[in-house]
Amino acid sequence: MKLILLGAPGAGKGTQAEKICEKLHIPTISTGNIIRAALKNGTEMGLKAKAYMEAGQLVPDEVVIGIIKDRLKDDDCKNGFILDGFPRTIPQAQALVDMGIDIDKVIDIEVPDEKIIARMSGRRVCSKCANSYHMEYKKPKVDGVCDACGGELVQRKDDAPETVLARLEEYHEMTEPLKGFYDKLGKLKVVEGQEDVSDTTSLVFAALED
Ligand code: ADP
Ligand code: ZN
Repeated sequence: MKLILLGAPGAGKGTQAEKICEKLHIPTISTGNIIRAALKNGTEMGLKAKAYMEAGQLVPDEVVIGIIKDRLKDDDCKNGFILDGFPRTIPQAQALVDMGIDIDKVIDIEVPDEKIIARMSGRRVCSKCANSYHMEYKKPKVDGVCDACGGELVQRKDDAPETVLARLEEYHEMTEPLKGFYDKLGKLKVVEGQEDVSDTTSLVFAALED
C-alpha cells in the first residue's frame, strides 16, 4: 500500500505513521527527518535546507523532490510506503505522478490551528535518534530522556511559537490545496484528530480499510 499522510505541522502525522508502519510493515518516509539528519551531518543538502527550515518555510521543491526520488528507489519501498510530510505542494504531488507512482490513499488528519499551536509547544524530539515525544500526550518514561536510545529530548527550533505560526500559514497556503488535488482523484480520506492518540489511530485504521 502506498500512502500519504496529510495534515498541518503538528497534526500527529509522524505518530500515526509509526502505528501504520507497525500494522502494515511498510516503511515511513519523513522528509522532515531526512532533512534534519542531513542538517546534522552537515551535508550539502542539509546546508541548502537549513535557513528555510529554521524560519518555518518550506524547503524548495527541487530539493525535497530529489530526496524522495532517491529514497523511493530503495529496496524496502517495494511493497509500499507511508509518506509523512511529502508532498507539501502541488508541484511535489505532480512529481509523484511524473515518477509513475500510483498512490492508493491519502489520509488527511484534521486538527484546528488553536490546538496545533497548543500542542507544538509541548513537542520534544530526541537529539540523537529523532524519535518524537510530547510533554502531555506522549510522555517519555523518564522526563527529558528518549525511551529508545537514552538521548536528550529537546525542542526543535522550528517548534518555537513564532515559527509555528509561519508554518501554519504556509500549510494553509501551499499544502491545503492538496486536499482538492487528491479528492478529485477519489483518494482523500479525512480523519478528525482526537484528543487521545489511540482514538485517532482507530479512525486512521478504519480509513485504511475503507
Ligand atoms: P512536522 O513534523 O511539523 O510535520 P516536518 O518535520 O515534516 O514537520 O518538517 C519540518 C520542516 O522541514 C518543514 O517546516 C520544512 O521546512 C521542511 N520540509 C519537510 N518536508 C518538506 C516538503 N515536502 N517540502 C518542503 N519542505 C519540507
Ligand atoms: Zn533517541
